[in-house]
Amino acid sequence: MKKKGLLFIISGPAGSGKGTIVKRVRELAEFDFSVSATTRSPRPGELEGVHYFFVGKQEFEEKIAAGEMLEYAEYVGNYYGTPKKPVEKALSAGKNMILDIDVQGALQVKEKLPEAIMVFVLPPDFATLMRRIRGRGTESPEIIDKRMQKARVELECFDQYDYIVTNRDNDVENAAQDVLAILKAETLKTFRNRDIKEHFFS
Ligand code: 5GP
Repeated sequence: MKKKGLLFIISGPAGSGKGTIVKRVRELAEFDFSVSATTRSPRPGELEGVHYFFVGKQEFEEKIAAGEMLEYAEYVGNYYGTPKKPVEKALSAGKNMILDIDVQGALQVKEKLPEAIMVFVLPPDFATLMRRIRGRGTESPEIIDKRMQKARVELECFDQYDYIVTNRDNDVENAAQDVLAILKAETLKTFRNRDIKEHFFS
């Protein structure tokens, strides 16, 4: 029987740099990325179906009602959610999958799929976090303020995660290597390798 793929959930406050880490991890290891649906507007350079599926509020609510979302959350005034089918398909095909989602969504996934591996990305300290949120330059002061408040709430939740990865300035490589180390250790877990015993004695 084909082994199921591993489901990695990466969360962390805005400014934690988790998007950059996910990008680097995917260059170094094979992971399918779940493209989320969102009602927020695209930022310059963001592409439909690559960074997000950009949908209207009504369409998003229809997807929720039709049971098409594995999880969803409201984040700073917009809906964000993970379409269920691609995740199920990838995992049953034995592919590893990575989700970059907020804390509310992560906890919903963990409840439905307890074998999910939860990784929280943190900047080295709060001052760095504030600087990074201000520094993106694509958001209005009001949104920046909301993202900062949200970051504080998210930070309260990090002990619900399995692993913490610190993302220091200019050191994405180190953080990506930490995620790969987690991948390696999780791959070697006994419960994922019961077949080894059978093969060993046969
Ligand atoms: P951004 O607007 O900066 O792209 O994303 C804002 C937040 O929404 C980030 O914390 C990101 O991880 C989260 N997010 C992105 N996609 C999803 C999703 O499908 N579900 C949930 N719950 N959060 C998401």
